[in-house]
Amino acid sequence: EATAEDDNYFDSYEDIEIHRLMLKDVPRTEAYQKAILGNKELFEGKVVMDIGAGTGILSLFCAQAGAAKVYAVEASRLANLTREVVAKNGFSHVIEVVHGKAEEIDLPEGVQVDVIVSEWMGFYLLHESMLESVLLARDKHLKPDGVMLPSKATLFAAACRLGEFYSQQVDFWNHLYGLDLSPVGQAVLDSKRCKPEVAIVKADELLSEPVQLADFDLAWLGPDEIERIHSRAFTSVLCDQPTEYQGVCLWFDCSFEWPDRIPCTPVKLSTSPSSAATHWKQTIIVLPSSIQVEEGDLIGWELTLKRSMEHRRRYQIELNLLDPEEDEHPVPCSCGQARC
Ligand code: SAH
Repeated sequence: EATAEDDNYFDSYEDIEIHRLMLKDVPRTEAYQKAILGNKELFEGKVVMDIGAGTGILSLFCAQAGAAKVYAVEASRLANLTREVVAKNGFSHVIEVVHGKAEEIDLPEGVQVDVIVSEWMGFYLLHESMLESVLLARDKHLKPDGVMLPSKATLFAAACRLGEFYSQQVDFWNHLYGLDLSPVGQAVLDSKRCKPEVAIVKADELLSEPVQLADFDLAWLGPDEIERIHSRAFTSVLCDQPTEYQGVCLWFDCSFEWPDRIPCTPVKLSTSPSSAATHWKQTIIVLPSSIQVEEGDLIGWELTLKRSMEHRRRYQIELNLLDPEEDEHPVPCSCGQARC
């Protein structure tokens, strides 16, 4: 059923600028190109569904790789333009553009597809919740032994410094015209509470090993498993000299690989701070205040990503810092000092 939120969502994809940004994102688009054209055995003579075809780029890669038939499914009105792009490239006999939601459309005579290709990832992987549509469409249209591309998606978190953010928005207020306006910087920090934002984190700003928050196998993942992601972790600080722990950085990786029965050249798309920048950048959760840390310090957190009930395409992200002293050594009894 169509909701107002869905209407806005699909309208936004009629804006060509969004598609330009995605096509300009070379690590993103090349990962798909390599995964598809570097693995032609998977596509030759096969039936493919491209979920959310947009300008048609992934469908065209699949046709180039020798697919017998590609259903390029696009829910927004961009579908008409997609059809023109397909014709322009001489693939109208292979690619059929279908205007509709992948999880709602019916293929002729109950056809099931061999491969599903989709670029469904949002900021911090889950934003936009397009993944749910992909999973429902998988259950409806993919053959039981069919292949999903990407096949895996992993969400990570690491402690970090926020150099740029602090210098521009927080410390900026400390010394102005010989005066101290730091309460304004503190108000900025307060305003960021529970409001993750998209920003670039540099590799040398990470202060811990990445902690895995979720590891999805797209062949088996159930739609109910993306309603709430919860992780509780302790990790130790890695840094050359004492520094400031200012936030938690989120990013994701996707991989394109498949079961042993099909030969493959795996491809990985990473949006980590140490990989080539993508349009997803990273997502940061700013701590309420900066914490002084040094090499080997233990830090802990509890991180919850909860799909919003009223805005189904959004998640609420909650971060609670844990005290390693207390959480590692909980007081074992309530018997009071005198008797213990
Ligand atoms: N595949 C293109 C576009 C990716 S953006 C590329 O890689 O460049 C995601 C696209 O999916 C958008 O155009 C959006 O309108 C479409 N989309 C999102 N949910 C969909 C659904 N449930 N069914 C069909 N299309 C969908």
